[in-house]
Amino acid sequence: MTDAELRQRASKVVPGGMYGHLNAALFAPGFPQFFERGEGCRQWDVDGREYIDFMCSWGPVVLGHRHPRVEEAAARQAALGDCLNGPGPIMVELAELLVDTVPSADWAMFSKNGTDATTQALMVARAATGRTKVLMAHGAYHGADPWCTPSPAGTTPNERADLVEFTYNSLESLESAAATVEGDVAAIIVTPFKHDSFEDQELVEPAFARGARALADRLGAALVIDDVRAGFRVDLRGSWEPYRVRPDLTAWSKAMANGYPIAAVTGTDALRGPAQTLYSTGSFWFSAVAMAAAKATIETLRDTDGIAAMERAGARLREGLYEQAKSHGFTVNQTGPVTIPWLSFDGDADLSVAMHWSDACLRHGVYLHPWHNWFMSAAHTEDDVAKALEGTDQAFAETRAHVG
Ligand code: PMP
Repeated sequence: MTDAELRQRASKVVPGGMYGHLNAALFAPGFPQFFERGEGCRQWDVDGREYIDFMCSWGPVVLGHRHPRVEEAAARQAALGDCLNGPGPIMVELAELLVDTVPSADWAMFSKNGTDATTQALMVARAATGRTKVLMAHGAYHGADPWCTPSPAGTTPNERADLVEFTYNSLESLESAAATVEGDVAAIIVTPFKHDSFEDQELVEPAFARGARALADRLGAALVIDDVRAGFRVDLRGSWEPYRVRPDLTAWSKAMANGYPIAAVTGTDALRGPAQTLYSTGSFWFSAVAMAAAKATIETLRDTDGIAAMERAGARLREGLYEQAKSHGFTVNQTGPVTIPWLSFDGDADLSVAMHWSDACLRHGVYLHPWHNWFMSAAHTEDDVAKALEGTDQAFAETRAHVG
């Protein structure tokens, strides 16, 4: 069954044929919709085309597809049972591992998706403070529930009424946002760096991170880090740990279990009591297979220094792309941590150059994205990056020929 045939069939039985962030209609024209398999840092689409994969399934795959240690742990648990009348011992082991790994974590609660975790973190903050308002950065993505989805379709204004926006990295703007809802701030929710789609990424200013911590303390509000996208790719201890800024609550998901479905909220002792009061649950939240996969993933990242491997591969990719862009006469901006990279072309406001280049990359066996950040995995070797750079070089040449 080809991609075209599957799209045709899907259009009859799935709204729009596909929806949400993996809808290939939103990317450049040549992007495949359907995939057959993945192995290491490679994926194959249903038409049999092979790609070196720099999206890693939009973040979850951090050790490479079908990593043996993770697959073995998942299979061992699956043989015992996955969805039982209560969690397996693995839930306690995984919570202990998170508490041992993440300095700001005294406890952990589990769910399935990043949206579950950000929503649950805000529930804990509201239960703790008895307040309603949440300060969030303008344009930040925290999930797809009505309170946070970027599209208003199907939601009511009421569902977003408790959000007050500030400008990322502006302490002044954060303080003004807080002042408008004086006395009613339950939480400040913030991503560890600015990784909004369609624009260059921006690392956090350490003074902003420290200022957000101090403001939350002054207000008696919770500082929530949304580490769903960056978690386990920047620092295993939490993405603001290098700045010595510790949150009250952290939302985790994506890379936590190398592709198995799981999310978590971790929090401090002070919030343990309020967390206990929530009614927050789901039929599949305590499934043991994903927990076994999470434990194996985090231990493997720790034991093999997986983040350092991603940093080496990401740095090599960034250098190579810089040299190639220059040699083809393009000025590019490469932003974000090297483990969660992105490239934009200078002066390409409508992203048409990025669209052309990413399409050309696909034709040369490199899967990356025109308007969303990419993800490195610990499976990207120096040889893989070198091979990918052969493809990107041809793509730059073709893009130069196209734009003149
Ligand atoms: N927060 C951030 C920062 C994210 O990047 C995402 C997913 N892109 C989410 C929350 C929501 O996660 P999920 O799609 O798993 O619900």
